[in-house]
Amino acid sequence: MPKTILIAEHAGFCHGVKRAVDKTLDANAHYPDQTVYVLGQLIHNPQEIERLAQQGIKTVAHLDDVPAGSVCVVRTHGATPEVFDALAEKGVTLQDATCPDVSLVQNKAIQLAQEGYTVVIVGKADHPEVIGIKAHAEKAVPGAHIVAVQTSAELVPALQQVPRRRVGIVSQTTQLEETFFDMVKTLSKLAKELKVFNTICPATFYRQNAAADLAAKVPVMVVVGGKNSSNTSHLADICREAGAQTVHIETVAELDAFAPLKNTTTVGVTAGASTPEWVVEEVLDYLKCLA
Ligand code: SF4
Repeated sequence: MPKTILIAEHAGFCHGVKRAVDKTLDANAHYPDQTVYVLGQLIHNPQEIERLAQQGIKTVAHLDDVPAGSVCVVRTHGATPEVFDALAEKGVTLQDATCPDVSLVQNKAIQLAQEGYTVVIVGKADHPEVIGIKAHAEKAVPGAHIVAVQTSAELVPALQQVPRRRVGIVSQTTQLEETFFDMVKTLSKLAKELKVFNTICPATFYRQNAAADLAAKVPVMVVVGGKNSSNTSHLADICREAGAQTVHIETVAELDAFAPLKNTTTVGVTAGASTPEWVVEEVLDYLKCLA
């Protein structure tokens, strides 16, 4: 029964996610006679996607499911140039919600490829943001050498396939700082010349630091956000590493099974950049009732 509930200084919706949700809702209001489609999950939060669905906004997984002439939102993670071309061919009214911080990574990767560097993207190769970054750089510089790796262990085999004398490095926006700097350290031993763009977005950086600070002060942490959200999962990892007993939940119902809450007087709360305020409020209300 926690008596004190502390909330991380930076938690919940970031500016990129807020902008994407606002753009989608604006489009829905602006085109009342049309269905607004979102290609892929607008943000990695199932509860917010469901809330949008209840307002008639339709999330589709494939380009083929976006009807010609419809209104379509491209999500915060961005999309490949081929997707933008295909949407234009379909005569779609485009609402591009690519986060400006994601566009920045795309531009830095293009710059590195244009300068002749082998480009290393630190991130999950199958994550939509990373797929988009790679595709934009490949389109801008055909034949460029670009690899996406998640860990230093993957780096050596990946670089065996490409020139590694001059290497440039960028990061998926939501990457753990520790992972990125570990990769920079490894690369500095493998390449003759290394150009580094730390493209972890400020919102991620602030949330990670605030989570680490709070988790170091409290025995128990509740991390709220989509299980499919990279940045939320990273927050949970950070809290565990800081020593707090940590649970990563999507909805308040999951807290019933989290035993450490019953024995602590203090609990910390943080939320991923894609977690809406109303989900966090439900968690806070639950915790207040325990107090
Ligand atoms: S986490 Fe960063 S990159 Fe992702 S939407 Fe938010 S501000 Fe943009």
